[in-house]
Amino acid sequence: MTATRVLVLNSGSSSVKYQLLDMRDRARLAVGLVERIGEENSRLKHTPLIEGGDPRERTGPIADHDEALKAVAEELAADGLGLDSPELAAIGHRVVHGGQSFTQPTVVDDTVLAEIERLIPVAPLHNPANLTGIRTARALRPDLPQVAVFDTAFHTTMPESAARYAIDVETADAHRIRRYGFHGTSHAYVSRATAELLGRAPEDVNVIVLHLGNGASASAVRGGRCVDTSMGLTPLEGLVMGTRSGDLDPAVIFHLMRVGEMSTDEIDTLLNKRSGLIGLCGDNDMREIRRRVDEGDERAKLAFDIYIHRLKKYIGAYCAVLGRVDAVVFTAGVGENAAPVREAAVGGLEGLGLAVDGELNAVRSGEPRLISPAGARVAVAVVPTDEELEIAAQTYALVAI
Ligand code: ADP
Repeated sequence: MTATRVLVLNSGSSSVKYQLLDMRDRARLAVGLVERIGEENSRLKHTPLIEGGDPRERTGPIADHDEALKAVAEELAADGLGLDSPELAAIGHRVVHGGQSFTQPTVVDDTVLAEIERLIPVAPLHNPANLTGIRTARALRPDLPQVAVFDTAFHTTMPESAARYAIDVETADAHRIRRYGFHGTSHAYVSRATAELLGRAPEDVNVIVLHLGNGASASAVRGGRCVDTSMGLTPLEGLVMGTRSGDLDPAVIFHLMRVGEMSTDEIDTLLNKRSGLIGLCGDNDMREIRRRVDEGDERAKLAFDIYIHRLKKYIGAYCAVLGRVDAVVFTAGVGENAAPVREAAVGGLEGLGLAVDGELNAVRSGEPRLISPAGARVAVAVVPTDEELEIAAQTYALVAI
């Protein structure tokens, strides 16, 4: 029997998201989530997508990732999709930070694990949880290939002029400070899917990808290779996000330390968790913000305007970086669903060849689609992202014989 299934695992500090896909037809066989790991009220939500499978939920304490993965394995086994199945080809792991070491998806061995561990200082929140996920999965199926797919990998093609901060080179190198970028799996998938939508080869098109979810990032992709992206050393840089500030004068931090007497951790929390849309207006869900804007709420309107202003600046900047732009594409929760954001972001940019058609923009669909007027110089598109499918495809490409 040929092994064609891939289990995709996205391990966070207190959660594990998973999807089981069959790469013959890219069908999802099961999806699920374990949350609040380590707490009393942990929860596992499991949705089999095969005929006769019913969604199930387990509540009660799940102590650690090991227990979480064992519970997931049990649920999968109950649907006849167990991890011991000969049809399982590999497990693909989302790993947030691959630094400069990992430019490609990589089959995990002890050396790879050690290198991901070495990168913990630049990704203290994410890499430890990703590592735990890999180690746990490896213990469960030591014979199975485990593949690490890095959020940073797609951005490793950025030239030094885009990747380096203009700070003292020795200091930067000593601490591995540079712009790594994140959401790379999504930027890779969406930029390729956009070329497909245009009926052209990825090597022939220049695309600006706007990944607007709760976290948000933009990238400039020339001929299928990333040449700039808005997130930096960490996901804090760049666009205004749900709870992150994005770009700001670094001196704001010194000011908060000296004058506001805030600690490093307090400022970290402020900028990552209490800023962006939630800091500006108390909501980080774009649906709620739009509802408030429509009711005349001034704070929500200002938050929306700041969000759009920043987005426009990045579109303009990346037009300049790329020189010639074939498409601007919106993706992720906000990008795929919020027509007012797309309209406002592109509004007034006719000089750059950008416009949206009101009717096309208003269409709700889960399919890749153009929203620019017929004959527009630059295509504006909406392309739903699918990070799990991309992780599964990259994993399978590495292990399929
Ligand atoms: P992440 O993966 O970063 O958590 P998503 O890509 O799932 O985020 O995006 C989540 C965000 O998408 C929500 O916080 C919300 O702001 C936005 N969103 C989801 N659905 C809609 C919608 N129908 N209209 C506007 N915004 C939406």
